[in-house]
Amino acid sequence: MLEGNVIPTTNVQVEADVEDNPLSAARTQLAEAINHLGYDESMYQLLATPRREVTVTVPLRRDDGSTEVLTGHRVQHNFSRGPAKGGLRYNPNVTLDEVRALAMWMTWKCALLDVPYGGAKGGIRIDPRFYSTTELERVTRRYISEISPLIGPAHDIPAPDIGTDEQTMAWVMDTYSVLRGHTVLGVTTGKPLSLGGSLGRPTATSRGVVHVSLAALQSRGIDRGRARAVVQGFGKVGQPAAQLLHEADVRVIAVSDQYGAITNDNGLDLCELEKHFAATGSVVGFSGALPIDGGDMLELPADLLVPAAVEGVINRNNADRIQATVIVEGANGPTTPDADERLMAADKLVVPDILANAGGVIVSYFEWVQANQAYWWSSADVENRLEERMLKAWNNVRDHSERGGISLRKAATALAVSRVAQAHHQRGLYP
Ligand code: NAD
Repeated sequence: MLEGNVIPTTNVQVEADVEDNPLSAARTQLAEAINHLGYDESMYQLLATPRREVTVTVPLRRDDGSTEVLTGHRVQHNFSRGPAKGGLRYNPNVTLDEVRALAMWMTWKCALLDVPYGGAKGGIRIDPRFYSTTELERVTRRYISEISPLIGPAHDIPAPDIGTDEQTMAWVMDTYSVLRGHTVLGVTTGKPLSLGGSLGRPTATSRGVVHVSLAALQSRGIDRGRARAVVQGFGKVGQPAAQLLHEADVRVIAVSDQYGAITNDNGLDLCELEKHFAATGSVVGFSGALPIDGGDMLELPADLLVPAAVEGVINRNNADRIQATVIVEGANGPTTPDADERLMAADKLVVPDILANAGGVIVSYFEWVQANQAYWWSSADVENRLEERMLKAWNNVRDHSERGGISLRKAATALAVSRVAQAHHQRGLYP
């Protein structure tokens, strides 16, 4: 029995169309957890719906003097365990449903890792590659001024995600601080070190991915020195994850980004690849590898697959052809529920996003604690505490999964949902 209060069960069902809509996928996972825990439909309704959401218009003055009108969202899914926490995404495919799903997953992630936050997410529909730095600064400042009544260290704390970085977070912090009339370091995490960032934050998500990857490989009896890995996405999560896997003796045989994929069966030279990436902005064209189709790359014979790019890349169309034994979700929502079933049936071990990529929110929490206390820790402090929390959560989820005969995802979601439900139950319903 997991934590929480048991209420007579109904069999909660969600709408179909889970393949293409991350919110349907997130709700399917929630319904499975609610059914597993024996909670009733009202708990499902409470947790399937965001607590608060806002859509804002973001008018942007372009460098050429013209005006463009963008759309942004901020969704706060749950506050039962503390202020809402979640990234800010700049991507042309951002939709409100995607932001809602990502906010819900943040709630589960924070509960699972036992950090005192609820979940949130934000996004602006924009392709940052086509905007200058000054334009991105204006977009960020206008968006933050629009949502500023809703955010703050005790309310909702943004962080970097796809298309945003520590510079974006510096603008977020500055805009919020100007509006409040004093410097508020704790309003965002993932800031530069010079502005109250934490040592270890830039690589935290990837370090967490690697801690659970090595544990998962070991649980399947795969020696890391013989393991072959494929990493999709070469951004803030994928790039350090590939490097750290390499440093841990795992042979990284393929990587990709939005421009293409490359492979070298003998293992990529990550140091040379990083030089190539720094010079060209892409993994494509690296002389130490051969090009490969991005879809085919996911199906290469490997021990470990780390999808670290976008949602829905492992789906009903390719799940049956995935050869990796262990799949560690660096990205949020890379596996659709249908693919999840197929991978489970094929005896693959899928380490779910809410566990696998939680290193970022753990060190974001450390950064918030440090900023609120104006006292900074050493990188060894940060990294040791990160590893301890990741492995504790891994052991907890694996034990629940083995004991209940359920997938790691079902175990992780059920554990997280039970903690959130318990907080709701203990707080009671106002009024
Ligand atoms: P990023 O913008 O830094 O990098 C994204 C990478 O994915 C880029 O290399 C991009 O080229 C690549 N990409 C995009 N579409 C692709 C495709 N179709 N095929 C292959 N590559 C593709 O973003 P990020 O911060 O690394 O985030 C990646 C994922 O990890 C997202 O799902 C994000 O929500 C999740 N995540 C990020 C953090 C964090 O700390 N940054 C924490 C937890 C989860």
